[in-house]
Amino acid sequence: MRAGPTEYREEPCRSALNRVTGMAFRWSLNPYTGCVHRCTFCYVRSFERRADRPSDERYGTTIRVKTNVPTVLRAELARRSWRGELVAIGAATDPYQPAEGRYRLTRACIQALGEARTPLSIVTRGPLVVRDVDVLQAAARRAAVDVNFSIPTLDADVWRRTEPGTAPPRQRLRALRTLVEAGIRAGVGLAPILPGISDRPDQLAAVVRAARDAGATHLWGNVLHLQPGTREHFLEHLARDWPEQAERYARLYRGTYLARADAEPIRRRIERLRAEHAIADRCQAPLAPPEEPEQLPLAI
Ligand code: SF4
Repeated sequence: MRAGPTEYREEPCRSALNRVTGMAFRWSLNPYTGCVHRCTFCYVRSFERRADRPSDERYGTTIRVKTNVPTVLRAELARRSWRGELVAIGAATDPYQPAEGRYRLTRACIQALGEARTPLSIVTRGPLVVRDVDVLQAAARRAAVDVNFSIPTLDADVWRRTEPGTAPPRQRLRALRTLVEAGIRAGVGLAPILPGISDRPDQLAAVVRAARDAGATHLWGNVLHLQPGTREHFLEHLARDWPEQAERYARLYRGTYLARADAEPIRRRIERLRAEHAIADRCQAPLAPPEEPEQLPLAI
């Protein structure tokens, strides 16, 4: 079944911040539900399955736009109980998917978090993030800000087959460079790495080298996980695109996770490459704190 045209549903939300357990952050924020990028390996498909929404080819064909999310967020940040903990933007959608060009909700949320001196972290595949350099800089003057570009591979064939809706990886690297030059911490999430498809030493080295050349302040990597919902969709595409890998994946992914003996060598290689290429925060001119009172740039 082929994906149909995208439907955008403008629906207000009742809460903006989601409490998260079992992750490195305790709060997440998703201005949209669904992601038009429709990556075959997308882990969000498993969330959709659990929420009884489609995780197959229909995933990403309906995007919920939380039109009031900046207003709701501001109210939540103003509560006396809010402790200013790290907020992860984009844990369950890409906050810089095309809809953000029109709705500017992620932008407005960054501005609200900055004004509330709340640290934030963004994960995206969308070069559109460079539009928001001004609000990111303003937020970074008040609290920790870091941007993570998901770049699992530079291999054009693998990218095209697994990420039907994203911008080319090199565009993400150019966006990364722009942010770093503006004083924003920006790095690369080399994930998900696909065993037998994007884990060759030369493929991994190419991403790490390119990240270093673009000025990445940090880099991390992870291998593919196949939760129910993601699993069926990914394996269906694998059988079509890399049929010679189907048997191997059936063996490797009897469960959700790759066995430690298979995953550890990949993780160690990334660690070595990161050290070899000296990926580190080389920002020479950290952003100065604002002189109070400061007017942050308008979100709209
Ligand atoms: S960009 Fe991220 S959220 Fe969007 S489909 Fe790809 S993996 Fe999923």
